[in-house]
Amino acid sequence: MRILIIADIHANLTALEAVLTHAQGTFDMVWCLGDLVGYGPEPNACVQRIRALDKLVCLSGNHDRAAIGKMDLNTFNPVAATALRWTQMALLSESRDYLNKLPSMQVINGTMIAHGSPRQPYFEYISDTALARKMFGHFTGAICLIGHTHIACVFQQSGNRCHKLIAPTGKSFSINAGRYILNPGAVGQPRDQNPQAAYAILDLSTDSWVQQRVPYNITETQRRMRRYELPETLITRLDLGV
Ligand code: ZN
Repeated sequence: MRILIIADIHANLTALEAVLTHAQGTFDMVWCLGDLVGYGPEPNACVQRIRALDKLVCLSGNHDRAAIGKMDLNTFNPVAATALRWTQMALLSESRDYLNKLPSMQVINGTMIAHGSPRQPYFEYISDTALARKMFGHFTGAICLIGHTHIACVFQQSGNRCHKLIAPTGKSFSINAGRYILNPGAVGQPRDQNPQAAYAILDLSTDSWVQQRVPYNITETQRRMRRYELPETLITRLDLGV
């Protein structure tokens, strides 16, 4: 069973299409870890594209909740809140209805998936080993998949130790030595100084994780963002991957 793992699309249709084209033929299912919208220029098209995917499990993220008025915009920084106010206006009712139905976390065949963390799916960022170590107590299976930080990484629990690892891009990385928290990085707004769209393939039959990075037409996304007068800092950060 090969699963396409995507997270943090953030209404960046150009990046999403590049990922789906790159991953074509390499997966049997799709698990989307939330934040379909927010920041970017095409929330409705991204919702439509994702919900039409075959064999999909999809979570909501904090931006998806805020975009439908179910999370206080004061919990976001000012530019994120500005983009969310625009997203709230731009969302069609069918997109809102879809986002409203998405769960914040789920267990599928023993694998936990959550947007931010298995303890606080909308609010917690697992970016260091101190927090990751605690999070292993909040799920029971071998694997938990998360997004939210927009930074691809692997946390491995082996005995009572926790290590932070970076899986090599495009190569099979074995995940059969302990328990793991896996983050595929962001499709639509990477923050690890690499502007290329990120995703991963999880193969549960071989216990492997393949991290992938895909170039996409960033200029095109930026052009669309400028058309809607989205904040300039959100536009320029896409070039830098921050
Ligand atoms: Zn996000």
